[in-house]
Amino acid sequence: MADSHAKQEIQNLVNGYEVVIGLEVHAQISSKAKLFSGSSTEFGSEPNHNVDFVDSAMPGMLPVLNQYCVDQAIKTGFGVAGTIYRRSVFDRKNYFYPDLPQGYQITQLYHPIITDGKIEISLPDGSKKTINIDRIHIEQDAGKSVHTLEQDKTYIDLNRAGIALMEIVSKPDMRSSTEAMLYIKKLRTILKYVKTCDCNMEQGNFRVDANVSVHKPGEPFGTRCEIKNLNSVRFVGQAIDYEIQRQISAIESGEKITQDTLLFDEATCTTRRMRSKEDSADYRYFPDPDLKPLILTEDRISKIKDTMPELPDAKKERFVKDYGITEYDADILTEDIDTADIYEATVSASKYDIAKSGKQVANWFLGDLFAYIKKANISIDALPFPITNIAKIVDLTLDDVISISSAKKLFADMVETNQEPDEIVKRLKLAQITDISTIEQAASEVLNQNPTQVEQYKSGKEQLFGFFVGMTMKKLGGAGNPGIINEVLKKKLSS
Ligand code: ADP
Ligand code: MG
Repeated sequence: MADSHAKQEIQNLVNGYEVVIGLEVHAQISSKAKLFSGSSTEFGSEPNHNVDFVDSAMPGMLPVLNQYCVDQAIKTGFGVAGTIYRRSVFDRKNYFYPDLPQGYQITQLYHPIITDGKIEISLPDGSKKTINIDRIHIEQDAGKSVHTLEQDKTYIDLNRAGIALMEIVSKPDMRSSTEAMLYIKKLRTILKYVKTCDCNMEQGNFRVDANVSVHKPGEPFGTRCEIKNLNSVRFVGQAIDYEIQRQISAIESGEKITQDTLLFDEATCTTRRMRSKEDSADYRYFPDPDLKPLILTEDRISKIKDTMPELPDAKKERFVKDYGITEYDADILTEDIDTADIYEATVSASKYDIAKSGKQVANWFLGDLFAYIKKANISIDALPFPITNIAKIVDLTLDDVISISSAKKLFADMVETNQEPDEIVKRLKLAQITDISTIEQAASEVLNQNPTQVEQYKSGKEQLFGFFVGMTMKKLGGAGNPGIINEVLKKKLSS
């Protein structure tokens, strides 16, 4: 174990440096109302439509904690096997920003609601690695400054001000951009399973800050830089890779890395300096006097625990066990909860036992179905045919009505015509010939017409068997059942 870990680290060296990455994710809590007001959180509303007196920080307004958002954070805590605190506290983080009318953000610094979670990622070489989560705290989002409406003017849109976020902070446990991207994907999968964040990165409701440092093996961790607000998994990878190279070149040319906050330029795939990093002392954090400590009762926590869905890792394990599929296949099928549900529904629509149909349906999903979805650029719940048709095709092949290669023709036809599989079998004449006497007749003809080959086969040239199979299949117009053809020929040639 220790050995394989050491090997892993050596493999991850970049130009002789070890890389250290820790990620901070701002995940918008799925909730109709904001964290401390009743304003709507709807995306795309008219600017400044979802704003009340609390969000705009009118003097004398008091925040009222949205308990649903708290429940959502607890669910997330269970989703990453974290410790959920019976008592947590809201703090004020003071800073000036035009789109932050309060002059401070309400967050949780000293006593967050959750600490010590973990997420398991599957590495490309098939091994697994646990990435630890340091903490998850609840905080409010700021508004938006809009610079693009008019030249030389900035507009403020407070629709986002006060929306509930979870800040999910990992330990510095990742050693490559690949690990960072796998962690982000897995975290997203989990949040979608527990339905506490939509994870729509384009709409900005799942934003990643990447902390990156490099050091020579055996030395302490290097000084980190933080790249802010990455909004796609690809950008996370690109920004980290660029930053690793930038830091290594800087160190190699004798510079010292300073702890900076950076921006990623998506057009050039480079990072640039935004500001030097503030320390927490700069924000003069103190407990928010408007809010009591958040106390969670055992009863509340256990009720939420009872509503927890099966998590991705547990689902994956069950898929492997019940459906007899590989871990690799199960990994892909459970990555998205909708896909996992649809897969299970399809398997159970087959008339065969799940131990048999599970594998077949998985093959269709991971093969022709996903290829089609990708090409047509649609989601799995927007197929032009009922998904149960996949079960019908599986049954047709397991019944030996059609061969696998005919089934592929059927599928290609179905996505165009949306006809019933049975009808397509008839229209394209895909049914296999399984009738023994028809196959025996064809086999006899082949053997009678090729006496020399039969002679050679019987005197030891066994590779001619394939020739007889091919000829018989040809006689049957390519529609013979290969298994039966094999059996019939074996019997005839050995008599
Ligand atoms: P701060 O509160 O100053 O932002 P944190 O301790 O919260 O500092 O760390 C922020 C993030 O930086 C965490 O995700 C952590 O894993 C990561 N991190 C800490 N040290 C390093 C390092 N040397 N290199 C890379 N990432 C680091
Ligand atoms: Mg931080």
